[in-house]
Amino acid sequence: MTYAQMSAEERKAEYARLQKEFDDLKAKGLNLNMARGKPGKAQLDLVSDIFSLMQDPKDYVSDGIDVRNYGEMSGLPAAKRLFAEILGCKPERVLVGGNASLQLMYDTISKAYTHGLLRSERPWCREEKVKWLCPAPGYDRHFKITESFGFELITIPMTDYGPDMDAVEEAVKDPAVKGIWCVPKYSNPDGIIYSDETIRRMAALKPAAPDFIIMWDNAYCIHEFEGDYVEFPDILALCEEAGNADMVFEFASTSKVTLPGAGISCFACSEANMAYMEKLLTIQTISFDKVNQQRHVLYLKDKAHTLELMKKHAAIMGPKFRAVVDALDKEIAPLDIASWSRPKGGYFVSLNAMPGTAKRTLALCKEAGVTMTGAGATFPYGKDPQDSNIRIAPSLPPVEELEQAIAILCVCLKLSALEKLGI
Ligand code: PLP
Repeated sequence: MTYAQMSAEERKAEYARLQKEFDDLKAKGLNLNMARGKPGKAQLDLVSDIFSLMQDPKDYVSDGIDVRNYGEMSGLPAAKRLFAEILGCKPERVLVGGNASLQLMYDTISKAYTHGLLRSERPWCREEKVKWLCPAPGYDRHFKITESFGFELITIPMTDYGPDMDAVEEAVKDPAVKGIWCVPKYSNPDGIIYSDETIRRMAALKPAAPDFIIMWDNAYCIHEFEGDYVEFPDILALCEEAGNADMVFEFASTSKVTLPGAGISCFACSEANMAYMEKLLTIQTISFDKVNQQRHVLYLKDKAHTLELMKKHAAIMGPKFRAVVDALDKEIAPLDIASWSRPKGGYFVSLNAMPGTAKRTLALCKEAGVTMTGAGATFPYGKDPQDSNIRIAPSLPPVEELEQAIAILCVCLKLSALEKLGI
């Protein structure tokens, strides 16, 4: 029987039973975390043999370049080839940067703001208003970047196929709209893979702003934890075919392949954009960390070898995601108080609780010792108009802890739904 079908008396009894269960869980004094998409310790252990590399002096040289010295600002050619093969684009369209793609994303927006992009009429700081499209639910750190530059964030609804392209096509008619955030494969948090149709329409956009950019954050491009690797189109080639070669910057990193915060990152863009960005970046740095780039080239070798490693990550991640979805299927599905995604890759499960209950659910979780991503975080300005979306990040805790955490989340979802329905 669903909660809505229960009589007031039945709901009252259920609430009293759950409150007792909640108090017992609270008394355990747990400290569990499902807040951020961090790899678990087993995943870090899996890749820590990377530290044993580069013991032989011949490993300091890549394509005749001494990786220990200044130079090669746009990255080692071998590192460009590695990312290009993974992303399916040309190596000359890749710049390999430092330890995090988020930094490259921030820097791209920052350069647009201070200097303008290749096709800008003026730096964005001189625009009266800059508006930015945010498919939501989405990645909180994306939204924060554009918010921090004072852009007006416009929410674009997510569909099962990616951002609502009717809404995007309509929004880009406004010349103040300068860009959009996209996580095209295993989107954060929904785990959606954009459909071919969505990608085609995205590449073919005809925005009023000449310097409109798609920030194509392919953070989870090889991050399947269930099933085989899913091929994905090259957005750079599609934009070029549509006459929009300069409209996209693609980003990726090895944060969830090797070590988050100690991996390597890249962006990929048209040759014209690359020449423009290199001119600006050359002032900023003489070179990124090529030693780490070389370490990654030696460790990951090529796409096929990297995909083998991702299978090992999948063997650790898969059971964690199954534990979450199984618990929700068993405990919550019969009550009809929430729905959730069933991703096959990425780092999150996106749960939509009964509208008006996400904040309360997460406050109860906190009380019982479970830290989750804050309610609203997946929406621009941290405000979920429905107070419904909850992002579950199952990767960090070991399975036993995760099972405890998800059991607590289920109790909290039930309590807050009963409160909403009236007890
Ligand atoms: N992009 C997305 C969509 C993410 O979910 C994350 C981390 O959770 C990042 C980027 C961070 O990547 P990096 O460590 O390369 O900055």
